[in-house]
Amino acid sequence: MNRVRCLVFNAALGPLDYKVPDGMMVEPGSVVECPLGPRTIVGIVWEAERLPGSEVPSEKLRPLRGVLPVPPLSAALRRLIEWTADYYVASLASVARMALSSGGALKGPASITEYRLTGGLPERMTPQRQAALEALEGEQATIRELAGIAGVSEGVLRGLVNQGALEPVQVDSDRPYDAARPDFAQPELSEDQREVADRLCEAVRAKSFAPFLLDGVTGSGKTETYFEPMAEALRRGRQVLVLLPEIALTENFLHRFEERFGAAPVVWHSSLKSTERRRAWRNVASGAAQVVVGARSALFLPFASLGLIVVDEAHEISFKQEDGVRYNARDVAVMRAHFEQVPVVLASATPAIESLQMAESGVYEKLDLPSRFGGAQLPSIATIDLTEEKPGAGQWLAHRLVDGIEERLARGEQSLLFLNRRGYAPLTLCRNCGFRFQCPNCSAWLVEHRFTQRLACHHCGHETKQPETCPECGEPDCLVACGPGVERIADEVAERLPQARVFVATSDTLNSPGRAAEFIAQVEAGAIDVIVGTQLVTKGFHFPELTLVGVVDADLGLEGGDLRAGERTYQQVAQVAGRAGRGAKPGEVLLQTRHPEASVIVALAAGDRDAFYEAETEARRHAGAPPFGRWASIIVSSEDDAEAREAAHRIGGHRPQVEDLVIFGPAPAPMALLRGRYRYRFLINARRNVQLQAILRRWLGEIEHPPGVRVGVDIDPYSFV
Ligand code: ADP
Ligand code: ZN
Repeated sequence: MNRVRCLVFNAALGPLDYKVPDGMMVEPGSVVECPLGPRTIVGIVWEAERLPGSEVPSEKLRPLRGVLPVPPLSAALRRLIEWTADYYVASLASVARMALSSGGALKGPASITEYRLTGGLPERMTPQRQAALEALEGEQATIRELAGIAGVSEGVLRGLVNQGALEPVQVDSDRPYDAARPDFAQPELSEDQREVADRLCEAVRAKSFAPFLLDGVTGSGKTETYFEPMAEALRRGRQVLVLLPEIALTENFLHRFEERFGAAPVVWHSSLKSTERRRAWRNVASGAAQVVVGARSALFLPFASLGLIVVDEAHEISFKQEDGVRYNARDVAVMRAHFEQVPVVLASATPAIESLQMAESGVYEKLDLPSRFGGAQLPSIATIDLTEEKPGAGQWLAHRLVDGIEERLARGEQSLLFLNRRGYAPLTLCRNCGFRFQCPNCSAWLVEHRFTQRLACHHCGHETKQPETCPECGEPDCLVACGPGVERIADEVAERLPQARVFVATSDTLNSPGRAAEFIAQVEAGAIDVIVGTQLVTKGFHFPELTLVGVVDADLGLEGGDLRAGERTYQQVAQVAGRAGRGAKPGEVLLQTRHPEASVIVALAAGDRDAFYEAETEARRHAGAPPFGRWASIIVSSEDDAEAREAAHRIGGHRPQVEDLVIFGPAPAPMALLRGRYRYRFLINARRNVQLQAILRRWLGEIEHPPGVRVGVDIDPYSFV
């Protein structure tokens, strides 16, 4: 073969054909350098019959420039890339780029110079040098990384190198990781756990596609249980991918993993340093990385011999990517397992209705862990009707809830207050003229953060200092905070129970693995009495002394235009309730609500999961919503409002007429302005028999827009803003 078709990294271009120069060896999956005009771009050799291409005569083809020193992408990964692009109506190039996710890795083997302390002291000591020497104890990294760790300039560290206090070490950039040992510390499993683990181990040995829904109540030991098939895969020399919904959860997971396997797994997420990224990528590609724990982007890593995929907290909406290629990592994980011919485990205490339906229809095998490990009881759940038990003026916590916290304090136990709102107050307004602080880039209020004394937009990151006077009418001392955020709840607890040690746990305060670890250690040591937290603390944590959970506003999730609001509220509250009473002491959960009669609140209070799921499933069936029907949305945006609106109407003018497919819109999106772009959207509802993607591709493909217009397609959308 001296003619090949390549998928090139340019979304505007289709596949291109090239000539393979004599002596160059390529095969499907090879990552190659392709000439394009005067430039060279990266491409992947693909099976010609799977990509429609141009029929340029062979003698006119340009030769490939080279083959990059990485293993060819496997057929399974190529099929996954094709499937993802096809299903989510994205370009192949944009999906393939997610697989080649480390530029450094493509350059081949390398070594880097790192530095470490020698133990020697510089001749002249300065405060900065002193600080650096203290901070760098036990560290080894590049000068730039060390400067970051020590909080000093690179110049200071170069000075220490010259003085012999730091020495260079050459390290292989891609050195292997410490080996995980499948039999390092095997726990004694309960009978239920054993049964589930055995079934999963058998599936790993069978080496074929097998999707499982592991449905286990909070505290049932799902992690311990799925560690067993992971160990089985390792024993067979195969790799394991574990997807977690949030980086913040990784720390806790890593800790447990190390205790079980005697070494840390390989971590993959978007904030890795480029050196860590290339090392992970190349070790995954060579097969040396045994277990990868990652956020959704880990799905597209080039595993050499995958043996098992686990998706923990599989119902979590953060598995849904909301920009670029809008994919759901849970669903793509199942497809990857399918192409790799391996089992996949979706673990959850509150599975998505879509997943339960797949189990019901026999596509997924359902495995249950119906009770907590070690005889711990599920907590009792009661509601507090806020229309009857009103908190005092300027307060958000009912007396019964505060009394509950006080009782825990007296007994030396811990409480958790859950409110899914960062900051102090979600809205600040002027008492004098009614002015409201709004983000200049988004249709959103600015959220007051009292710790940092700033007003911030949670959508685009815009921040301003909290002014002293109203920017509209100029009145001093007239700005009032409306509604509570976690910081305000923490203030209220501190005021009403001054003896309590309160900690606010959000992505603002637990923003690094170190801080998360410190928080866990403090709670475990009993140095915190009351945790006030957002959804970040609803899962993964296991604190035996935590016996009371208060949900500050159980109705919060029910507001807004979210089509899965009921399910989401149920999952969130059930998850946070699951933090209570995980040890020997029983747990109690108090839900503050203004709608104690709402079906989701009633189901939560009765602990009647089945009733909730049945009602919700029926409602979905009735509405033709997933999994019974399908949704898609189209978001048309531009920095210019008129341009966006015109583009949306142009698309609307070409709307296809198809049976069993309804198109709503275009209408201004609920977030009509987001990060400086004006947005219009269509919502599409289709029966399952409709070829939705093909229709969308044909419809949108035939319309041209000015360059400033972006048209995004969201298949199976979660967010409707
Ligand atoms: P889940 O993820 O289902 O909420 P976890 O996996 O966090 O539950 O388990 C709850 C707690 O019980 C953890 O502290 C875990 O270490 C412990 N545990 C579960 N199963 C076992 C076991 N077989 N042996 C020892 N400890 C266990
Ligand atoms: Zn904004």
